[in-house]
Amino acid sequence: MRAAQTRITILLMGGSCLAVGAAYWLAVRGQPLSPFILVRGALLVIGTALVAMLAITALVRDAARYRRLILDQIQHSLMNDLPGIAAPPKDPNARPIVNTLRERIDSLQSRADQLQIQKKNLEIQLRLADAQRRQSLIMINGISDAVLVTDSFDELLVANPAAAEVFAFDLAHSTKKPIAQLLDSPAAAKLAADISDLRANHTRTNRRTVDYQLEIEGLLHTFSVTLSCVIDNHDQFSGVVTVLHDRTRENEISKMKTDFVSHVSHELRTPLSSIKAYAELLVDGEATDDKTRSEFYHIIQAEADRLSRLIDNILNISRIESGMMRVNKKSISLNEILKQAVEVTSPGAKEKNIAIIDQTSPIFFHVQADRDMIYQSVLNIISNAIKYTPAGGTVRLALEVREEEVVVLVTDSGVGIPPEAMKHLFEKFYRVEQHKNMAKGSGLGLNLTRQIIESIHKGKMIVISEVGKGSTFGFSLPIAA
Ligand code: ADP
Repeated sequence: MRAAQTRITILLMGGSCLAVGAAYWLAVRGQPLSPFILVRGALLVIGTALVAMLAITALVRDAARYRRLILDQIQHSLMNDLPGIAAPPKDPNARPIVNTLRERIDSLQSRADQLQIQKKNLEIQLRLADAQRRQSLIMINGISDAVLVTDSFDELLVANPAAAEVFAFDLAHSTKKPIAQLLDSPAAAKLAADISDLRANHTRTNRRTVDYQLEIEGLLHTFSVTLSCVIDNHDQFSGVVTVLHDRTRENEISKMKTDFVSHVSHELRTPLSSIKAYAELLVDGEATDDKTRSEFYHIIQAEADRLSRLIDNILNISRIESGMMRVNKKSISLNEILKQAVEVTSPGAKEKNIAIIDQTSPIFFHVQADRDMIYQSVLNIISNAIKYTPAGGTVRLALEVREEEVVVLVTDSGVGIPPEAMKHLFEKFYRVEQHKNMAKGSGLGLNLTRQIIESIHKGKMIVISEVGKGSTFGFSLPIAA
């Protein structure tokens, strides 16, 4: 408003100056030029120039004010959620600018909204990816095989506790470390080199399976190692996954099975060969008199019994190990079982002039157990005591109660067991080398006895021995309530 007034004032003043100038020129036209006329003319020109300067100054100021007014209006609109722009500006000259600005701001606003939605989506995806990453880590950590994941710089991305244990590195501070630094033992360094090699040549081979032998806590372990390249959706190499499967135990079991089959075949062949040989002698009429024939019949019978015992032992051991053994536990008296076992083994003891001294208590001790199995165990122990005691020796039987347990002890004055053999006594088919000529045996009796006492009846085997002095074999069982 003030700008318009200023403009009108200046125009009026300009017009007045021009009118005065024109009137003056008409008045002095045709008159000779005098100094007075010249001075008045000059004053008129100066006055007109001053008015023109004033007009220009007012116009410049007016333009500056006008510009500031528009900027204020825009700023006001932006600060107050565009109400000023939403309403059409009062000055018609500002409308096109404000409209353009409003469109621009509208498009910026919608872009900002879109970006906000995109940001929220990305946050959700990030949270999902993080949850998936944690889930994958939990799964990798749960794998019993050792797992190592390396990137395209051969630096560790992920490892599980099994891997940290195998290669003895600190799992918490291993990420992003060069794999060659983590796998630094000579045997493990070969694996680190293979990982690098697969990474470098991944286009040719994407998977390799290699066997490694690594020492863990002083024991040599055999690992079957699978190295696989990870290629992403864009055919880009992302890393190498290395899985180490410890085959040591499997190898041991496989060897045990092979040994077992070869032992069983060997043990079966021995009595079978005897039976076959004596039967052939009888068929060929080599036994000419009744005494020889009877002797051959007895040998065949004894070997057949041995064969049958051996097969029974093998079957019982395998039934117990596979959990297929039928167990019939009831309250039984150990005194009776010992008595019966002594009756059965006495003829053998008598042949060797071995005295069986019964020192069992007259009090009857009962245990909750399978009678046949406990009888089998007691029989094995007393038979061994007689077998590994030279003629003229003694075998003492004791039955006593210690705290909540009943203890059966069979002490002989036999050859005893060398200390180095003690830890092998209960292994299948183990026989002390020095005893092999003393008596026939299969090396299964003590293994079966221990399985019966410890696995089935939750008791404990007892062995004390001294070479040349004798041995005490026995077991303890929880006393029946
Ligand atoms: P075997 O059929 O050979 O007797 P066992 O499993 O009963 O098989 O015994 C394993 C080995 O333990 C025997 O071969 C023997 O060397 C040793 N052994 C067992 N009992 C005695 C004992 N009382 N005295 C000395 N050695 C024994």
